Amino acid sequence: MGIIPKIIFKAKIKEKLAALTFDDGPHPEFTIELLDIFKENGIKATFFVTGKNIEKYKMIIRRMIAEGHELGNHTYSHKNLIFKKKSMIFEEIERTDKLLRDLGVKGDIFFRPPYGRILFAAAAVLASLNKKVIMWNIPTKDYKENDPDIILKRIYKRIKPGSIIELHDCGVERAGKKIDRQATINAVKILINELPKRGYEFRTVSELIKY
Ligand SMILES: [Zn+2]
Repeated sequence: MGIIPKIIFKAKIKEKLAALTFDDGPHPEFTIELLDIFKENGIKATFFVTGKNIEKYKMIIRRMIAEGHELGNHTYSHKNLIFKKKSMIFEEIERTDKLLRDLGVKGDIFFRPPYGRILFAAAAVLASLNKKVIMWNIPTKDYKENDPDIILKRIYKRIKPGSIIELHDCGVERAGKKIDRQATINAVKILINELPKRGYEFRTVSELIKY
């Protein structure tokens, strides 16, 4: 047990496998649409969900588990963890893990920090909890985009074996603007056909990093 947690940006493999990961959900509309697409195409993804949204959408979490998707911890309230107290960070992580456990999540629960940021206190807490921190090597910045082609270009440019692709099925409402992830969904619809043409298969993060 050190003071630095294990932080993973991509899997070190030669096989053409990649993980689709989604942050901030579940969302009652966009997440459901994604789950329908994945079900139809036999694809498993990894969802880094917040405790607040788990409490609101327990049925969606149950569906994710039943359909073989992986659930990760994205804190309870999605606050930036930089310069926060250890006790607060601990509470944010443990509360979310407990919600996931209560709904039936088994095995390791990976962690992804809000805004991809951790510093001393968060690093120490994560190390003490023996948490694997899952970042990404493909940031799509999809939350800023209305055009799926821009999201796809960013993925095609960086895709390589073992890639972890970061997307968002929900988000934070800004200045009364409603959350809209239609561009992400449209990009995913194209991606799940296009990447297999390039020889890629999709895996959950835990499947990807066990190689
Ligand atoms: Zn987030």
